[in-house]
Amino acid sequence: MPTPNLHVSQHPAVLHKLGILRDETTEPKKFREVVRELSWLLGYEALADARVSPKRIRTPIEEMEAAELGERIGLVPILRAGLGMVDAMLELFPEAQVWHLGLFRDERTLRPVEYYNKLPDSATVDLCLILDPMLATGGSATAAIDVLKRWGAVKPVRIKLLNLIAAPEGVEAVSAAHPDVAIHCAALDRQLNDKGYIMPGLGDAGDRQFGTGRSD
Ligand code: URA
Repeated sequence: MPTPNLHVSQHPAVLHKLGILRDETTEPKKFREVVRELSWLLGYEALADARVSPKRIRTPIEEMEAAELGERIGLVPILRAGLGMVDAMLELFPEAQVWHLGLFRDERTLRPVEYYNKLPDSATVDLCLILDPMLATGGSATAAIDVLKRWGAVKPVRIKLLNLIAAPEGVEAVSAAHPDVAIHCAALDRQLNDKGYIMPGLGDAGDRQFGTGRSD
């Protein structure tokens, strides 16, 4: 199935940082740093089409017409792994609001279960950026987009999905359910294994950021 809404970064800095992220010897502190750096780079690429409005300013030399971001942006980190992407996005878009969405993956069914929703009452936003490091089955991403659309994030409001690593299965699931949503990722990996992990991937993005899930 063609996926015109999929954007895979080709930037050398992204490729370099991905290698560090994937390496199993990368400790949580470094892992969090690289998640942040990659999120910044991905966010920069993903927002290349953001609207700006003119703003009159004065430089030390003369007056000029500068620009300022003209979009109201909502960041929607999917708990818990998406938390590591928030700070970088707030550096890029300091005016953005952060709306946490808690979806966990039922390890038996691999289906998403919603347990936390901090969306504001009304959808006063131009662009929603869903933040989740891993796009695996696409279950959580599709559920998050469903939640946003039911809440009111429908045309002309745009929704974009930012992932560090995507699996073809997840891309296909999201594109089939929501062809209007652009997916921006740093890598498109080979496939899922029978536990729903991305191969070669990086393991569990939440565990690796927060130092959990290790038996040693
Ligand atoms: N979630 C993760 O953290 N890693 C995967 O490989 C798949 C889903």
